[in-house]
Amino acid sequence: MRSSIVVGLQWGDEGKGKIIDAIAGSYDYVVRWNGGNNAGHTVVVEGKKFPLSLVPSGVLQRKKLLIAQGVVINPSVLLAEIAMLQNAGYRVDLMIDPRCHIVMPYHKVMDAANEAWKGKDATGSLHLGIGYCYEDRNNRAGIRLEFLVRPNVLWDKLEKILLLKKAIIEKAYGVQTDFSIETIVSEYVGYGKKLQKYIGDVSSLVSRNIARHSFLFEQAHGTMLDPVFGTYPYTVAPATISSAVFPSIGIAARSLPVIGVVKAYTTRVGNGPFPTELLDETGDAIRQRGHEFGTVSKRPRRCGWLDIPMLRYATRINGVTSLAVTKLDVLTGIHKLKICTGYRYRGKMLREFPAEISQLPDCKPVYETLMGWVVEDISDTKRRKDLPRQARAYLSYIEKQLNIPVRYISVGAERKALIKK
Ligand code: GDP
Repeated sequence: MRSSIVVGLQWGDEGKGKIIDAIAGSYDYVVRWNGGNNAGHTVVVEGKKFPLSLVPSGVLQRKKLLIAQGVVINPSVLLAEIAMLQNAGYRVDLMIDPRCHIVMPYHKVMDAANEAWKGKDATGSLHLGIGYCYEDRNNRAGIRLEFLVRPNVLWDKLEKILLLKKAIIEKAYGVQTDFSIETIVSEYVGYGKKLQKYIGDVSSLVSRNIARHSFLFEQAHGTMLDPVFGTYPYTVAPATISSAVFPSIGIAARSLPVIGVVKAYTTRVGNGPFPTELLDETGDAIRQRGHEFGTVSKRPRRCGWLDIPMLRYATRINGVTSLAVTKLDVLTGIHKLKICTGYRYRGKMLREFPAEISQLPDCKPVYETLMGWVVEDISDTKRRKDLPRQARAYLSYIEKQLNIPVRYISVGAERKALIKK
């Protein structure tokens, strides 16, 4: 099996975890390369649900797991997740790059204070401090995993950083703080002791082995949350597009197959533009049937029709070579399914999501209506040809519009509810 990149093509929550778990058996390693514990994947195996936020989704297939430097780590969350998996009988064969940055207590405080300050323009962050951790990384004020196993280095760094953080939080946001360097160093050195055995140079390992072994590269978030190519500023801090896999791990760029995961409809959590959003009972029905509530946040996700202009854009930017369509079962019972095929913008038709995000409010989706499949439950279907005729037509329509084959069809949350081409 050749190494492959798995990317979500919408606003996250496409079911990447489900697809990665289901196909990981064919790969040697699963590598998580971006995001923090604000990006949850849910994997369901034989009725048991595993919410994962940092451990790569290949863990339930007992794969070798790598966390690359592009991931930011909340150590207490990671350690709890490892313990949860070990208690469930899974071996966690994990290597974490020492260059990974650590989410610190002041990141969470800054996140909450900044969202409160933005008021109605808040991004919809979960106040987990992930964006602030990335900001410090870029500002050269971050704490890397390697520092947690060197108490003196950690102390020296924090002495300066804490003064500035305290001043910003108290003076700019008017929020009182009680950070103590002794408490923070002692807590984080404790995490360092527990994480030490996992630390290793992931960049070097992948570079040395990519010609001989197969790697499955796992993205967190989704294309439309990318800080540059997504719906800025309602986006996340780390790059999410497939080519970011190379610098996020520290390997040379090369051509790799890219599996684009697309939910059979569209959802987004939090604020920001959403051209095909359904604010009616069809949107409510999809939300209920699809359990569209955040894995980490439990917030209701906004639901809408499939958006082809967005997917044309996302497949182009990511160089998608095959598609995995998820949650097709959720559309069962809807009599008429709409698919947005283009946007009408000031008398012109746009085939792709616009580069200028400020044009979006004036983009009106143009829809094609397809017949739905009403009676059948499709979640036990094993072959594409056994799906209802209308479901097959829906998939073929997507393939034709995007000119990319659908290789996987997910018809239920369970690992085995997957049709492979
Ligand atoms: P990810 O971050 O892209 O991995 O997505 P999430 O895990 O946040 O959200 C996807 C949710 O849908 C999870 O609860 C999955 O268990 C569930 N799921 C994945 N694929 C399917 C599917 O084909 N059908 C149904 N009904 N649920 C699915």
